[in-house]
Formats: sequence, C-alpha cells, structure tokens
Amino acid sequence: MKNIPESLQMIKQRIEAACRRVHRDPKEIEIVAVTKYVSVETTKAALDHGVVHLGESRVQDAIPKWAELGQRGTWHFIGHLQTNKVKDIIGRFAYVHSLDRLSLAAEIEKRGEINNTVTNCFVQVNISGEETKFGLEPKQVLEFVKETSKMKYINLCGLMTMAPYEQEAEETRTIFKQLRELRDELNALQLPRVQLTHLSMGMSNDFEVAIEEGATFIRLGSVLVGNERK
Ligand SMILES: *Cc1c(COP(=O)(O)O)cnc(C)c1O
Repeated sequence: MKNIPESLQMIKQRIEAACRRVHRDPKEIEIVAVTKYVSVETTKAALDHGVVHLGESRVQDAIPKWAELGQRGTWHFIGHLQTNKVKDIIGRFAYVHSLDRLSLAAEIEKRGEINNTVTNCFVQVNISGEETKFGLEPKQVLEFVKETSKMKYINLCGLMTMAPYEQEAEETRTIFKQLRELRDELNALQLPRVQLTHLSMGMSNDFEVAIEEGATFIRLGSVLVGNERK
C-alpha cells in the first residue's frame, strides 16, 4: 500500500507551490482521491488520513466500496456513466463529473426525483478532440447547458475535462486554459440557473498546470493512493 500520509503531504506542498505561482488560495482546491485501482483497505486508509472526496469510475467496483465506506466520504463518479447504471449512483454519489449527453441527464433527473436527491454535475467537455475521449465538443456545450439547467434534480456545478497524457505536463496547459475560458464565457451570459463555479481538471501527471489554469477539483489516483493493479 502506498504511504498515504507521505503522498498527501507531498501533494499539498505541490498544490501550495502551484498556487503561489498564480496567487491563488490553496483552499480553493479540493483533492478527489481516485480509488478506482485500489482496494477497500487503501480507500479506507485514505479516509483515515483526512481525505474527504473519493472518485470512482466503474459502478461495479464502486458499489462494494460504497457499501462499506459510503457514509464516511463524499463520492464522485468520474468515469463514463451508462444510463442503466444511474439508479445505482443517485443518492450515493454527490457528484457526477461525466455528464455528456441529454439521455444521461434525463435519467439523472428521473432518478433524482424518485430519490428526492439533487446531484451535482460537471459537464464533460472533450477539449482535446481526441476520438478516444468522451465529452461534448466545446461548441455543443451552450445548448446542452441551457437544456440541463432546467432540470430540478441536477445542479450544474462546472465543467470537467481530461487532457491527453503528455510527457511534458506543460503541453496540457492550452487544454485547461480553454476549459476555463469556456466556463467564463458561459457564466458571462448570465443564463437563469447557470453558475458554473467549478473546474474539474488535472490528474497525477498534470495537476499543477491545471491549478495554474484555475482547477478547483483535481482528480488524483496514482500519485496519491497508487495503483494496485499494476
Ligand atoms: C483514472 C482517472 C483519474 C486519475 O488518474 P491518475 O493519473 O492515476 O491520477 C482522474 N480522472 C479520471 C476521469 C480517471 O478516469
């Protein structure tokens, strides 16, 4: 098992350094510990050391962990979400980072009503344009936000993207910058019920660049809790 207190301390120092470079307050940045490749024990260790936000990307892996630890953390669903799995997520996961189509939004709305639960949702945007990535094209986001902002059981909280893996993290900067600019453009329109506060961007490889470009949720797997499947 990775030494979590040690990795947390190192990550916090790196967050603080990134914040200093751009005059941000480190309190603006939440760490989502991505536990998709680690056991229930390691997930529990993360919670024991003060991690609050947990990220999972597959429903079938997430549910057993949630069954054991659900009450202790705030759960984020970060992977591609199949519509038929929404019923397992609603009421358990406070956040969905991968809202990328209207059929999914409609299902979250429907299950939210049944459960009387509002889910915080990030609209996933495919900024890089890679075919292997999910998410809306940037030019589709405005229309999508207009539609989903009418839904009562969806709280649109921001935008999410994944940058391509780069040897040099610096090369991801334009991706993060474009997501921030898109968020700011949408907010400037002052649409009813649209206040996109958050940017979910940055992973183990590139979180400092993402912070410099405005990330408020960084999603950290290998650098924080490790990868036990390797
Ligand atoms: C796996 C995953 C992460 C974490 O990846 P690391 O590189 O291990 O930090 C973050 N976000 C998403 C959407 C993921 O699927």
